[in-house]
Amino acid sequence: MFKEVVQHARTERDCGDCSLCCKLPRTDFKEEYQWCKSCDVGNGCKIYNSRPQVCKDFKCLWKLGMCEERLKPNKVGFYIVPEKEESWEDAVFTIYAETHRVDNIPKVMGDIRLVDHTGRTWIYVIRYNADDNDLAIYDKDRFGNKLKYVKRGDIL
Ligand code: SF4
Ligand code: SF4
Repeated sequence: MFKEVVQHARTERDCGDCSLCCKLPRTDFKEEYQWCKSCDVGNGCKIYNSRPQVCKDFKCLWKLGMCEERLKPNKVGFYIVPEKEESWEDAVFTIYAETHRVDNIPKVMGDIRLVDHTGRTWIYVIRYNADDNDLAIYDKDRFGNKLKYVKRGDIL
């Protein structure tokens, strides 16, 4: 199985034609899972120079150059982020996925096994709609190459 070991020395990528994080949740100034009104989809932000700081600061793992080129968010319909500082230590990351493409994640990720420097396989908690309670877990070691749908608060 192909293994991609996370490199902390990386080359940042340009977002290019991707704007996916302008739709899926990450800000407090727009509805979750709805395009930001300032987004010109496929072309970028209409208020780029004055965009909020949260937008300037945001970088998904693809942008950071920490996952394969073929996982470009607007191509696969999801992006991966460390939700908090402990994500790196816990090897638990968050995926924000388009609702209609969440079931494609195992297919897209099937031959990718991101691991930390100790060899632990990353686990992903997936958001896939505007209901914060609806989650899917992608944990290859426990559930194989399948998503496990759960409610927030269920024992994982
Ligand atoms: S999802 Fe990632 S690659 Fe796409 S626009 Fe946002 S930061 Fe850039
Ligand atoms: S302000 Fe611009 S960068 Fe920020 S979410 Fe809206 S379109 Fe995207």
